[in-house]
Amino acid sequence: MSKVMIIGAGGVGRVVAYKCAQQPDVFSHILLASRTKSKCDAIAEDVRKDTGHAHFETAGVDAENVPELVALIRSFNPVMVIHVALPYQDLTIMEACLQAGVHYLDTANYEPKDEARFEYSWQWALHDRFKEAGLTAVLGCGFDPGVTGVFTAHAAKHHFDEIHYLDIIDANAGSHGKAFATNFNPEINIREVTQKGKFWQDGEWKLTEPHEISRLVNYPNVGPKRSYLIYHEELESLVKHFPTIRRARFWMTFSEEYLTHLRVIQNIGMAGIEPILYKGMEIVPLEFLKAVLPDPGELGENYTGQTSIGCRIRGVKDGQEKTYFIWNNCQHQDAYQETGTQGVSYTTGVPAMLGAKMMLQGHWSGAGVFNVEQMNPDPFLADLGVSGLPWHEEVNGDIEFND
Ligand code: NDP
Repeated sequence: MSKVMIIGAGGVGRVVAYKCAQQPDVFSHILLASRTKSKCDAIAEDVRKDTGHAHFETAGVDAENVPELVALIRSFNPVMVIHVALPYQDLTIMEACLQAGVHYLDTANYEPKDEARFEYSWQWALHDRFKEAGLTAVLGCGFDPGVTGVFTAHAAKHHFDEIHYLDIIDANAGSHGKAFATNFNPEINIREVTQKGKFWQDGEWKLTEPHEISRLVNYPNVGPKRSYLIYHEELESLVKHFPTIRRARFWMTFSEEYLTHLRVIQNIGMAGIEPILYKGMEIVPLEFLKAVLPDPGELGENYTGQTSIGCRIRGVKDGQEKTYFIWNNCQHQDAYQETGTQGVSYTTGVPAMLGAKMMLQGHWSGAGVFNVEQMNPDPFLADLGVSGLPWHEEVNGDIEFND
């Protein structure tokens, strides 16, 4: 029986709210707080109706205002905060957790607003403060990052003596019927996919132009899909925590239609993050674009198809070369039926709830700042399927990435 505070009432926040409320024996009291209280209230109404949770409250909060956050945390007095607002708020929410003395979990690493830079340095720098306070911070507990780190930790623990090659593959083989929409926060998503590609090889980072490298990847139940090498934040922590990795890459599917829209958006300057002056007021083009694009949280109703995300791994066990593939597929419609939102929010929100459950039940503990792969993968994977994301594995199959 524990109190948790969820920050962020977007698509992912909706899923976390549902999944926590489905388990009142673990999450006995829930506070959903976000910038716009009416969005929390709308989620709360659905959650109370569908789950019958008896202690689900809401609040408005500016998660970039530390004193305001600390006051709210102290008044509700949760054991931990599940942060599923935006990466810009990671540091202020971590600071508030330190001041209020509560544990922390998030799904995306900190990004400064004025620079699309994805790295853990700012959050890892808080390790000693969390350690001294006897508090746990778990970083990146969505699907990718998140389950991909748990999958890799499971492979390292149960299947390999040394992991040498890691390819994370992420397909969204879904269709939402819109000409262009992003599957999670458009601003964060467009910043992520328009940056240069980057992968780890032989002890150093290699840079590519955006979407320069692509290949066809055969996804389970989906088939072959063109997949592009992009940089994704879990690569940084995984090569740190599994130093035997010689090469780590991340591949994501994009349709031609999506990439064409993206090119146009970039070419006309709408992906810009520098403020411009418009009719006497400063606006950030990408923030404005977000306001006119479809809300990812509302794509669910007409979303068909599925996501397929997994880790393809090569290494050695008992002196023998071995391959291993571990993955999950998630149907957008199933996610929508259960939580009222689409599969990308669902595959992020379920692991966030489950990571929090691991912390509340004492399976994941330790004082300091940790990435998910540093935690025990076993209890998490034992619960992942039951929580809505069944996983599958194949040993010594054709993992396709033999180059
Ligand atoms: P949304 O944009 O739908 O929701 C974000 C929410 O955060 C909104 O409700 C927004 O409020 C709120 N918010 C923004 N700024 C503040 C603030 N200053 N104070 C309080 N609340 C604020 O995003 P998603 O739900 O799609 O994504 C949520 C997070 O999940 C993001 O960090 C994203 O990067 C991460 N993610 C992680 C994935 C993974 O697999 N690891 C995959 C997908 C997403 P308002 O409603 O007022 O705008």
